[in-house]
Amino acid sequence: MLIVCQIVIVLLFVLFESELGYLYPKLKVMAISLWEQSTYYAPKDVVIIGCGFVGLWTAYELMHKNPKLNITILERGVIPSGASTRNAGFSCFGSVSELMYDVQLMGEANMLETVKMRYDGLQRIQKVFNKAEIEYDQFGGYELFEEGGPYDIRKLDEDIAYLNKVLAPVLKTPKKNGKYLPIYTNETKQIKKLGFQKINALAFSPFEGQLNSAKLVLALQKAVQAKGVQILFNTEVKKFKSHAKGVSIKTNLEANLEAKQLLICTNGFAKQLLPTLDVVPARGQVFVTAPIPNLKFKGTFHFDEGFYYFRNVGNKLLLGGARNKDFKNEKTTSLETSKLIQKTLEEFMMKRILPKGSKKPKIELRWSGTMGMGKIKKPIIEQLQPNVYCAVRMSGMGVAIAPMVAQKTVQLMKH
Ligand SMILES: Cc1cc2nc3c(=O)[nH]c(=O)nc-3n(C[C@H](O)[C@H](O)[C@H](O)COP(=O)(O)OP(=O)(O)OC[C@H]3O[C@@H](n4cnc5c(N)ncnc54)[C@H](O)[C@@H]3O)c2cc1C
Repeated sequence: MLIVCQIVIVLLFVLFESELGYLYPKLKVMAISLWEQSTYYAPKDVVIIGCGFVGLWTAYELMHKNPKLNITILERGVIPSGASTRNAGFSCFGSVSELMYDVQLMGEANMLETVKMRYDGLQRIQKVFNKAEIEYDQFGGYELFEEGGPYDIRKLDEDIAYLNKVLAPVLKTPKKNGKYLPIYTNETKQIKKLGFQKINALAFSPFEGQLNSAKLVLALQKAVQAKGVQILFNTEVKKFKSHAKGVSIKTNLEANLEAKQLLICTNGFAKQLLPTLDVVPARGQVFVTAPIPNLKFKGTFHFDEGFYYFRNVGNKLLLGGARNKDFKNEKTTSLETSKLIQKTLEEFMMKRILPKGSKKPKIELRWSGTMGMGKIKKPIIEQLQPNVYCAVRMSGMGVAIAPMVAQKTVQLMKH
């Protein structure tokens, strides 16, 4: 009797499995239907890999040039999963010590070109989007200096005067009585009011601001989708092959795509598809505190040549950086946070930012994002093969430069 029951169970199981397999093929071998093939996965004019600021702004500018283009963005995350929704939400174009360092590193002309891209990019964001929609606030940006630090504060006034002189005509900042308003001023006298510890000098720029970067990504998504751009999430490009008529694109799904042109906007992850490019991932770690009663400042702040950055989010403190504490281990695409960096940031908060004797605030959230760096601090905007282009290596400036990177990329592509 037992044997008969066992045979019946096995027979029922086989029947059930085959029925189920027929009706619901397993997802990983899901074949594409005729209808899907002729719509979602039909050949495109342009496929963009990466739904961060660069991919989205380039789709936006391409559609602006030619509204008839058929564009699809492929994004491997369930939501955009690079730096664009995971940064600190600074709308900044460079601090005094950072720009003076850039002059040494790449010469005055390159520094001016990069700052102009950043400044113009920030203007473009404010022109295209409503400030309230992206929570844009222009509280200004500050740089903090300590005596004996990497920057010689005795040079501060001289460097401010130099930068104001060379930058104002290039950026075309607003004028008063026929003269450009200064881009930077020495505001050392404000240190006490702001409550910082062991800080000896302070530079200020009224032209810097802050925003909610995920709201900007969402606004861009909405804007490109309204123009007819398709975004496919959970779709990772594994490889591509350029041929006479365009490019064949292989994904993690059964769905592969054909496009006349392919644009790779994967920034810190660029090496996965383009192993020979000079792009190194660099993790940026951040935390945000619970509300701090009587937080003494509003604005964006930089310290140690930009390796530390903080801002207010309402009356919370958002603090990030300290990558220079552990360069080797921070060259990673891992989205975890590390004890060493988080502890360093907490110490920085207590010993520099908050007034002496402050109670340690609760940390509400900790996260990280992946930036794309290289030997020089300039994006790579290139045609790599027939019909294949890339716009990567935003060097930690992508919030600001993405709109201008997009315009340059569009000039290279056919539309
Ligand atoms: C902590 C932190 C602070 C920052 N601070 C500033 C700042 O103050 N000012 C500033 O201007 N910038 C700042 N940045 C940098 C800025 O956020 C980035 O430069 C910008 O977001 C890069 O945009 P992107 O579109 O090039 O790349 P990403 O936003 O990284 O987008 C790339 C996308 O490609 C996708 N992808 C990768 N590989 C594949 C694949 N094979 N198939 C499909 N999809 C793929 C990823 O999932 C990702 O969504 C900061 C970044 C971080 C992390």
